[in-house]
Amino acid sequence: MFKFVPTLLFIVMAGLSASCQNPTNNKNNQALMENQNQTKNPYYSRTDTSKLNVSDAEWEKVLSEEVYYISRNKGTERAFTGKLWDFEGTGTYYCAACGNALFKSDSKFGSSCGWPSFYQAMSANSVAYHSDNTFGMVRIEVVCGRCAGHLGHIFDDGPPPTGKRFCMNSVVLDFEPDSEKAK
Ligand code: FE
Repeated sequence: MFKFVPTLLFIVMAGLSASCQNPTNNKNNQALMENQNQTKNPYYSRTDTSKLNVSDAEWEKVLSEEVYYISRNKGTERAFTGKLWDFEGTGTYYCAACGNALFKSDSKFGSSCGWPSFYQAMSANSVAYHSDNTFGMVRIEVVCGRCAGHLGHIFDDGPPPTGKRFCMNSVVLDFEPDSEKAK
């Protein structure tokens, strides 16, 4: 019996070691790194809240191809492929096109739809709404309140307290952790 104890101890220790390697942290770091490159976009600001009126041709010059596709062409990333759909960091989400503050992480909830989901916007001016009747559906489009770029849609099947589900595209969201803001 006692000769099995060291083997058993090894198995338990190996299991604990594997569980300590947190894949969510790696994903969080990746999400942060991907959206740091805003240097060629002169319209990006996390402090300037004035509305922007920029042509699509100009946006195409300053945005990455994937941000331009979602933001200006109203594209949609495939479900469960975005960097933020199951992301759980504590902080603020900004428009990846213009830097406008959109959502706080405390309004994000685990949705099974495959896109990052929030039950409320950060403020009344963070986003704006348009009716969207494309693809034979009646939906409400959510756009950025500063640059009017497409973010996603809003539905009435969200959790309390609002019952709303802001179904957003990861590509057009930048995340800043609270720990970074304090520096
Ligand atoms: Fe924006």
